[in-house]
Amino acid sequence: MNTPTPVPSGTCRDAPILKERGQREVFCGLTGIIWLHRKMQDAFFLVVGSRTCAHLLQSAAGVMIFAEPRFGTAILEETDLAGMADAHEELDREVARLLSRRPDIKQLFLVGSCPSEVIKLDLARAAERLTQIHAPHVRVLNYSGSGIETTFTQGEDACLASMVPVLPTTDQRELMLVGALPDVVEDQAVSLLTQMGIGPIRVLPAPRSAEAPGIGPNTVFACLQPFLGDTAAALTRRGARMIQAPFPFGEEGTTLWLRAIAEEFGVDEDTFDRVTAAPRARARKAVANASEALRGKSIFFMPDSQLEIPLARFLTRECGMEAIEIGQPYIHKGLVGPDLDLIPAGPTISEGQDVDRQLDRVRAARPDLTICGLGLANPLEAEGLTTKWAIELVFTPVHFYEQAGDLAGLFSRPIRRRSLLNLEAAE
Ligand code: SF4
Repeated sequence: MNTPTPVPSGTCRDAPILKERGQREVFCGLTGIIWLHRKMQDAFFLVVGSRTCAHLLQSAAGVMIFAEPRFGTAILEETDLAGMADAHEELDREVARLLSRRPDIKQLFLVGSCPSEVIKLDLARAAERLTQIHAPHVRVLNYSGSGIETTFTQGEDACLASMVPVLPTTDQRELMLVGALPDVVEDQAVSLLTQMGIGPIRVLPAPRSAEAPGIGPNTVFACLQPFLGDTAAALTRRGARMIQAPFPFGEEGTTLWLRAIAEEFGVDEDTFDRVTAAPRARARKAVANASEALRGKSIFFMPDSQLEIPLARFLTRECGMEAIEIGQPYIHKGLVGPDLDLIPAGPTISEGQDVDRQLDRVRAARPDLTICGLGLANPLEAEGLTTKWAIELVFTPVHFYEQAGDLAGLFSRPIRRRSLLNLEAAE
């Protein structure tokens, strides 16, 4: 492990941020379709893109071959460049064909991508036109999943943000949970909050368009994911108020996230303790068991999933790790500020990426564990470094008490594997 640097006083909230704007190594925002289509059961995601986009979706979601898929790609060929009017007509024909074949679709997302011929298409105008044609049965929205400016988790943010302007208005005092988590995890959160007497609770995205939450000046919302900056801004513009808290990773993060909501709704301390005591104890025990291999180990986060800061908080405070660098594609202090408050100053906090320079820092530090994208993991493993793919953290249930042990396990597994490999090599 590299030598720990002395920890200055203060927290990472006020630490200087190393801003890098060079070459990046990340997936594009189309990736979010893989988990969004499972949550929104009457939605269809029509990617307007190239064969590359179609291949990305097919390889990432090959399991859909035997099911009626809820996403597809309208491939714009080079020849479409000849006339934008033709491209719009072709898109209208594709959508009409799709909707006549699939009456179950109630929300259609036109998802933009990065080929230049797609960028020239005005998909917002296309969505408006198609909504007029297909209303009231289907609402057509659009967002960009392009890989030019996004990290892969921004696809979900852009999708949810596109839904906010069309949410119905309400004056009811309601709690809105924002973010697409696996149903079993979402149910745990709703159950804990309900046991505290908090409600009504609504979720964005709703499983069906008819159940879309209302929004208004009495709506308060809590984000479930740290990458929902545009959605949070759009909700605020509609008059809702955000409850700020650390994100619900690990025992501590979950407790602080729940506590912030409980305080907003005036839940007393006894009720809070009664509801959370048992799952908190389970989470503490599970984390203690799963994090044995992590204690005293160093970790380096390359910017990828946008979960880096909350996860660094969990790993340093609950699992005994030492963070060397915490890189995040974008740092939105309005969202991750409460997590930064809990991380003692010391690690380098970096925003954006200049991949070669960052790899130089990884090689110099030789951390015990590096969190990075798929493309960087194999070369670093070949250099004897231990890695973890950031994308797995988004595809695995990791939020709230019951998943806290699994979350620690995701990081300890590669460290254990490396120790075994080293033992075998030594024999
Ligand atoms: S949106 Fe861009 S980066 Fe993503 S698959 Fe399509 S061409 Fe590739």
